[in-house]
Amino acid sequence: MTKIYKDIVSWQNLTESSAYKNKKIGFVPTMGALHQGHATLFGKSKSENQITVASIFVNPTQFNNASDLREYPNKIEEDLELLNKLEVDFCLLPSVEQMYPDNYQFSLEEKNFSKILCGKFRPGHFSGVLTVVLKLFNLVKPTNAYFGEKDYQQFLLIKEMVSALFLPINVVGCPTVREVDGLAMSSRNLRLSEAQRKKATIFAGELKSKKSCSEIMESLEKNGFKVDYIEEIFGRRFGAATIGEVRLIDNVSL
Ligand code: AMP
Repeated sequence: MTKIYKDIVSWQNLTESSAYKNKKIGFVPTMGALHQGHATLFGKSKSENQITVASIFVNPTQFNNASDLREYPNKIEEDLELLNKLEVDFCLLPSVEQMYPDNYQFSLEEKNFSKILCGKFRPGHFSGVLTVVLKLFNLVKPTNAYFGEKDYQQFLLIKEMVSALFLPINVVGCPTVREVDGLAMSSRNLRLSEAQRKKATIFAGELKSKKSCSEIMESLEKNGFKVDYIEEIFGRRFGAATIGEVRLIDNVSL
């Protein structure tokens, strides 16, 4: 059974115990509404560590849009069932008050790469991400931490943070898991209507096409997407576009 910790002091007592200390710890931070993409991260962690820790925390400081936070899918009962099935050892499930005793008076800012791509369109987003991941790293003290390449900019920023702050953690990137039609799995996909879900396939298809970035933008806009960016950097093509109320992001290696 996955053991659930809602209280940070109890969690810290566990991490000081011999059942936890000096073990090889794998950590997968999530915001819940778990899907197969998350499951592959847990699988990798299980195969490479003695203990696997999940966290489920919808982090308010990384949302720059109040309705996106309000509407973020919540399936906690199903999530805990999945963690049990995957034999994840521990799940950290803290409240906002527990995670932010400082009321977010302290935050971490990266001043370069976090300002482009998604950072340009979601002010404050990556500061929220880096701050919460640093807090979680301090609580979990993982040997290995697993992140999806679907959020490639996030993955690179976390790797850079770990290096800049001398954290003794190995950050592992895991390939994007996709639906049969190519759409990258995402918790937010649950919010797509049937018609929007069909259209979302076009986003993934265009991103991996041979077209130029501006041709892709044009085609997506014609199909009713509001496009934030389609850009190529670091040998990858990155894209973000909104359909209805749902913002999709994805990236492919060129
Ligand atoms: P989230 O719950 O969306 O914050 O995601 C938690 C972790 O799962 C992050 O490291 C994501 O990059 C990763 N993840 C989300 N979707 C996928 C996917 N389709 N394939 C691989 N990893 C993913």
